[in-house]
Amino acid sequence: MRLLNCDSVTSSRKANKTTHLPLLLANIGQLLTLQSSSGRPGPRRGSDLKELGVIEGGAVLCLGGKIVSVGKTKDALRDPWVKTKRKKILEIDCAGQVVLPGFVDSHTHPVFMSPRLVDFEKRIEGASYEEIAAAGGGIRSSLEGVRKAGKRDLAEKVLALLREMADLGTTTVEAKSGYGLTLESEMKSLEAIRDAASHWPGTVVPTLLGAHVVPGEFREHPEKYVEIVCREMIPRAAKRKLARFVDVFCDHGAFNAEQTEKIFQAAVENGLNVRGHMCQLTETVLKPFLRFEPASFDHMDHVNDADIAELARRDTIATLVPGANYFLGLKEYPPARSFIDAGVPVALATDYNPGTSPTLSMPMAMSLACTQMKMSPAEAIAAATINGAWALRVAERKGSIEAGKDADLTLFAVDDHREIPYWFGGSHCGLTVLNGVVWRNLKRGGFVGDRDPAPRG
Ligand SMILES: [Zn+2]
Repeated sequence: MRLLNCDSVTSSRKANKTTHLPLLLANIGQLLTLQSSSGRPGPRRGSDLKELGVIEGGAVLCLGGKIVSVGKTKDALRDPWVKTKRKKILEIDCAGQVVLPGFVDSHTHPVFMSPRLVDFEKRIEGASYEEIAAAGGGIRSSLEGVRKAGKRDLAEKVLALLREMADLGTTTVEAKSGYGLTLESEMKSLEAIRDAASHWPGTVVPTLLGAHVVPGEFREHPEKYVEIVCREMIPRAAKRKLARFVDVFCDHGAFNAEQTEKIFQAAVENGLNVRGHMCQLTETVLKPFLRFEPASFDHMDHVNDADIAELARRDTIATLVPGANYFLGLKEYPPARSFIDAGVPVALATDYNPGTSPTLSMPMAMSLACTQMKMSPAEAIAAATINGAWALRVAERKGSIEAGKDADLTLFAVDDHREIPYWFGGSHCGLTVLNGVVWRNLKRGGFVGDRDPAPRG
């Protein structure tokens, strides 16, 4: 059996050189295919969000990094091709456990050097997000470390995070720059994402977040900074193919609606798609941004009813990041039920970042979605997989287990899929397959013991 769990940039080069053996995951207790039962195209919304397409006693056959067939184990083992090739197939007996699509974490900020421990303590003592930012904490306090850091150091940090995400079942990650906020350090951050991604078998979707906040040196002249984002950062990132999306933090203390439109316009003119941090701290009217066809609006704590009705008619995803509400100690969470009941497609993401959501765990985000936002376990799973893929515009190849899609799967050492958000604060992820490469969390050691999937190849 081929196992990968690499220890450094150098050794993880192996990951990309791995030739894909045919891979058969068999004897799956609950195989959550996330195939649409309604057949309706587009992201999952309303009652479709809880359709997981469960196959009991399931099997998945993968070849060349792609899924080639999905069905029952008994049928897979009778397949003439499988019968003749069986000795050459890497077969994993899943021992009745749960297999689902690898998580798509569609919102992360992994390029930074240090945790923000002073902010953490200040907040515990009662300081607000805005007060911490005004005192020199917050996003601006991460800038110095990134500006001074070498690209290789940043890439090593990002790669370590990607490996940990694979341990937790995540196979596709959106990764933003945004802690450099100069042309040079934003490009360096995107290069670090690219370099780390090239050593990881999963899929990374890079986003330029030069418009995270206005850096201190432009405090008196924010328009000048917006010009740098529009005329220097976006064209450079587009030309060098370092980003697929441009993101803006549109809120009180960051960028206003007019500045956001300007930045979105520059993105579209340079052939990049847009997404936005919206309505986290205060309400923003979203309708003017829809002409840019944003892939996703993220956070969405304070959204007006007219915009909810409008979003229900669109494919723009409302990406909810309850980890931020949890870590900020907020009592209020984004109104997931209002979105779902109105027909707005929702995704879940970690918002991994050093200030407000230092978690890489999609199951933790899902647990918070269930307990704090009243999403059902099934809705949380769909929001963390297929709708995350929609939020990154990769749904044609990610987010569900269907023939022809990328072989991105994760196995949880549980009997029932509802246990994934139920057991919070730990990990039951036993094995992850990223573009056909089998990745096993060796750190788990004997913890799962006899629940480990048994390799038979
Ligand atoms: Zn964010």
